[in-house]
Amino acid sequence: MTDLRFRVVETAFKKKPATVEIPSERPSEYFGKYVFNREKMFKYLPSSTYARLLDVIDHGAALDRSIADEVAEGMKRWAMDLGVTHYTHWFQPLTEGTAEKHDSFVEHDGKGGMMEEFSGKLLVQQEPDASSFPNGGIRNTFEARGYSAWDPSSPVFVVDDTLCIPTIFIAYTGEALDYKAPLLRALRAVDKAATEVCQYFNPEVKKVVAYLGWEQEYFLVDEGLYAARPDLLLTGRTLMGHESSKNQQLEDHYFGAIPSRVAAFMKDLEIHALQLGIPVKTRHNEVAPNQFELAPIFEECNLAVDHNMLLMSVMRKVARNHGFRVLLHEKPFKGVNGSGKHNNWSLGTDTGLLLHSPGKTPLDHLRFITFLVNTLMAVYKNNGLLKASIMSATNAHRLGANEAPPAIISSFLGSRLTAVLDHLEQSEEGDLSSLSGKTGYKLDIPQIPELLIDNTDRNRTSPFAFTGNRFEFRAVGSEANCASAMIALNAAMAHQLTEFKAEVDALIATGVEKEKAIMTIVRRYIKECKPIRFDGNGYCDEWKVEAAKRGLDCETSCPVIFDNYLSAGTIAMFEATGVMTRKELEARNEVKWETYTKKIQIESRVLGDMVMNHIIPVATDYQSRLIDNVFKLRELITNGEATELTEENLAIIKRIGRHTNFIAEHVRQMVEARKEANKIEDERGKAVAYHDIIAPMLEEIRYHIDKLELIVDDRMWMLPKYRELLFVR
Ligand code: ADP
Ligand code: MG
Repeated sequence: MTDLRFRVVETAFKKKPATVEIPSERPSEYFGKYVFNREKMFKYLPSSTYARLLDVIDHGAALDRSIADEVAEGMKRWAMDLGVTHYTHWFQPLTEGTAEKHDSFVEHDGKGGMMEEFSGKLLVQQEPDASSFPNGGIRNTFEARGYSAWDPSSPVFVVDDTLCIPTIFIAYTGEALDYKAPLLRALRAVDKAATEVCQYFNPEVKKVVAYLGWEQEYFLVDEGLYAARPDLLLTGRTLMGHESSKNQQLEDHYFGAIPSRVAAFMKDLEIHALQLGIPVKTRHNEVAPNQFELAPIFEECNLAVDHNMLLMSVMRKVARNHGFRVLLHEKPFKGVNGSGKHNNWSLGTDTGLLLHSPGKTPLDHLRFITFLVNTLMAVYKNNGLLKASIMSATNAHRLGANEAPPAIISSFLGSRLTAVLDHLEQSEEGDLSSLSGKTGYKLDIPQIPELLIDNTDRNRTSPFAFTGNRFEFRAVGSEANCASAMIALNAAMAHQLTEFKAEVDALIATGVEKEKAIMTIVRRYIKECKPIRFDGNGYCDEWKVEAAKRGLDCETSCPVIFDNYLSAGTIAMFEATGVMTRKELEARNEVKWETYTKKIQIESRVLGDMVMNHIIPVATDYQSRLIDNVFKLRELITNGEATELTEENLAIIKRIGRHTNFIAEHVRQMVEARKEANKIEDERGKAVAYHDIIAPMLEEIRYHIDKLELIVDDRMWMLPKYRELLFVR
């Protein structure tokens, strides 16, 4: 039995890359093959229906139920041409993944036979029996109804034999029970607020779109090794395991050659992703061994979120076909980098990006500065909330653990843009001449176009960095639904822009010229939001002290960070923008605390089991062998030499004893602590107890397990070690 570990390692070592079925067409030809995109809509829908559906998609026109039947019929015909037999509403409950419940198209035909049917009613709305999704008390069992409703702005797609329909998921009383509903509300709010501000500069602007380009980091582990680790299997991370002598210190993995088994997986994944309309573009090795990244071309935010959720599930599936398991956990291995999911975010109109200044006119520059500074204000005012939006039991291992990013939200602009803002700030109040060019009133900021071309001045430690034409929110966790961060960011931005507009309009009403009014408010904001700007090293201790002085949120406890969602300012912001109500926010926090508790609880149980079933038996076994050896030596050698000869083994015997005692004793204490914590009724209180008391115990126990791993005979150790998990591929 004890050679199980060697067997799985050997098997993993010998694995060859899986064969990948390469389509005969080019990527540009099979892109979106399984998506009911415009091309297919045009082909499968009557032309009037097609036109009306596009109006719904592009202009948010109300979805007329009368066209729904025709749309459903077209979708069904397209899907059946692909061999599809089932359909599902595909939604994003407040768990990590997506939910689906498949129904087949088959219905009685009234003549004793069956027929394929799919009506508009089924497309548009359903009532999944979903009473066991987390809802934070919004749905008591007597009213446990939840509706899923079609989101026409995200196209339906086919996975295997099933037509998947992206939907929102709401309670029958209207509260959101998912991520998509509030995200759509936040996107609508930011569209409205930003469009109004854009109209200062260009009255033609009718719509502002929020964009998202995510970068997904992940680890791959051979599935045999994965299966031999109960902690990976049940919690997604290793709860024990001594660091490998070599890990990432040589920095030889980052951007290194991609191993062939992995390359085959990536190729396969990309084909699947492209066929599902996910515009994947970039792939590379990441910093840690066996860590990789994949990024698509950025898209409209709602679609990008759906695509990321879909990609994560496709990844899991494809990995298995290659004998891998994909680890999306933020920190699967101690001592090497964790995984994040940078969220590149920007706003744009049909005339171009708003965080980019391609134009040459002064008004373009002013517009750019306006959006930049308002973003900084939004981040400044909501820095605690933004941190809460990316916080989770799993991401907590990255944040504040001396790894990107720190647990304080700040924004990096780079030296040139900083100089521009400083310049604007220092110019005299009301004096626009310092910004004037030769031809009258002009914003003469020559640095800007230059800066956009050459923005290599990057700061990897900044959680919210400006990178040329967008902000990169780096604190998002690899496993997270991007929607959480995007809801907070877009809602905050919407609120900020609305406030800005009100202030500018008030000035204009007193007779101030428009441009001057904008400049006046922008200059005030530049001063006001200064505390959020930080270009230094986000990991150093000085920054923590400095950030606290600046009044930024420096809290590190995950459950306490969630309080930010219920601060007066946050509730007012979400209610004013129509994104979430107090009731929804309260319910969501209940879910967040409960999830936190459950995660730590599961880890604690798994570690307890591993200790009792693996660690202590193996360590004791080895200890017994040494004891046996000592006894026998003493029997064999009867002169004084025996003491000396058995000295070393005796020392090891004692060390093992000390470690196993500590471990066993602390596991007992941990069980007691759990029992105590479980008595706490209030979800927040319980989560705080799990954070303050139980989570640290996991670390203490681990320390001693890891010491044992170094002592115990390698042939007896049953659990795959870091060097095997991380280097065998
Ligand atoms: P990095 O150098 O930051 O690792 P990547 O190429 O891995 O860059 O990823 C950058 C991501 O940012 C891509 O998804 C890209 O499409 C996206 N992106 C680029 N410009 C914008 C923008 N204006 N708004 C949103 N996302 C953008
Ligand atoms: Mg990248």
